[in-house]
Amino acid sequence: MSCYLLDVLGFRDNEDKLIVKEMALMPLRYDAEPQTWIFKPPFLKNLLDADVRRLNENTSYIHGMSWESGEIDYECIDAILCEHLKDAKTIYVIDFAVAHWLRCYGYTQFFNLSTVPDYVNHVIPMIEHETECSHHSDSFMIDCAVKNVKQMLVNIMLYGQKELQQPH
Ligand SMILES: [Zn+2]
Repeated sequence: MSCYLLDVLGFRDNEDKLIVKEMALMPLRYDAEPQTWIFKPPFLKNLLDADVRRLNENTSYIHGMSWESGEIDYECIDAILCEHLKDAKTIYVIDFAVAHWLRCYGYTQFFNLSTVPDYVNHVIPMIEHETECSHHSDSFMIDCAVKNVKQMLVNIMLYGQKELQQPH
């Protein structure tokens, strides 16, 4: 059984559900590197309501990825999660939306770090240029799932994993 760090970034659909664009996943180990995926949109942008499209355009400014970008079919998410998380004891996330998204795929063994005030207070920002990720347009690197899981690794190692165990 292993522990993993997972983060996803993306957009919203008309029902305010998360549409994942970038996913980063890594085991909770010093010597590990994140694996990343960037997914094609599950449907065309013009199926989104006008206000949702505008909201997504704003989000696009933050993470520097477009609705149309992506390499992997959206339906592959299930299989990728299944392949990489089959021995997952705990999946650490840092966001309620990501936790909810994981639950929709049938994973309940997540631990939402944002629910631990002491942990949040321990968060130390990593030097930005240490992370390279090709998923974002050049001028953007404000938000990146790869950077986020690396940050989680550093912070969990500093904070102490034992303090983060919770009964399920
Ligand atoms: Zn990225």
